[in-house]
Amino acid sequence: MFRDGTSVLFHDTGEKRQHRAPYLVDNVDSKLVLTDQDEVIETVDFWERADYFDHQTSTGKNMQILIGNRPQRFDVTGSWYCHFWDTPGGGCKYCPIGAQGGEKKKKGEVLLTDPKEIVEVLAEGIKQRGRFANILITTGSILSGKQLLDDELNYHIELLKEIGKLFKTDRFPSQLIGTAYNREQLERLYNETGLMSYTADIEVLNETAFNRLCPGKAKFIGYQEWKKRLKIAAEIFGRGRVDTGLVTGTEIGNGIGFRTEDAAFAAVSEEAEELAEAGVSVAATIWQPSDIAILKNAKNPSLEYMIRISREFERLRLKYNLAVDFDDYRRCGNHPNTDLARLR
Ligand code: SF4
Repeated sequence: MFRDGTSVLFHDTGEKRQHRAPYLVDNVDSKLVLTDQDEVIETVDFWERADYFDHQTSTGKNMQILIGNRPQRFDVTGSWYCHFWDTPGGGCKYCPIGAQGGEKKKKGEVLLTDPKEIVEVLAEGIKQRGRFANILITTGSILSGKQLLDDELNYHIELLKEIGKLFKTDRFPSQLIGTAYNREQLERLYNETGLMSYTADIEVLNETAFNRLCPGKAKFIGYQEWKKRLKIAAEIFGRGRVDTGLVTGTEIGNGIGFRTEDAAFAAVSEEAEELAEAGVSVAATIWQPSDIAILKNAKNPSLEYMIRISREFERLRLKYNLAVDFDDYRRCGNHPNTDLARLR
């Protein structure tokens, strides 16, 4: 973490990345610092182990296995399996999760964790005063149900209702990263739970690139429909209470999207503005091609492009007066553009 609480590195997934990895956390003059090829960039620190990590549930499970965290956020992952991978090639092409799908199925990670068990851990976790500011909830996409995604939605509603019992207020600090639900499903999510914010990751802001990169999402929901559902979510949850994740850089080259960074910048900015106008912000992570993803040999764009587009997304967020306090440097710390909120 940086000294202001910005988290910059969460976990080491063990995957090999192609990009240069210049940063080293080093001990210089008895201080932990981030260095880039011997140049000291900034003082850093490790985040403290949460108190609940030392506890067990009533059935004897280690609480740290059931709920992870970032410095100031609980990370509740109901399941680590994404059902877009049920169809061969249906998952997103840069995604390392699907490649581990078979392994996860074997380990039973396709099963959803019992909401009561999750709430037992949260009840212990929130006893640590001043530590946690938000609860993030997610699962991989679950396509089954009476209508598409109903099983995923029903799980989240059940879980959020249970979590709501820990709070005295109707709504509580929370973010759900779900698949893009239709209006009826979004209304249920808002009306039946105390959820405060909603995220559905469109991954890339260009229809051609989306269709090539995310065949499952394209087949079951579609690009235009995904955008429409984000806008509906902002009507229901409120402007600035909805965002969408982007894997920035996937829109350029590699036979997927734009040929030049300038063309990508112009088109992506335009679509981001259309969403911002409707009350939806973007949360842009930096694409790092993973050696276990389908696009393992891909090349990502220049650092200059990443900086330029991050600044543009921040400019749009301010222009349309969208708060991003459910997904900023303290809650997530994964998106350079929303992390710029720390400077204002
Ligand atoms: S929706 Fe796409 S990026 Fe997300 S877990 Fe599934 S395959 Fe991976």
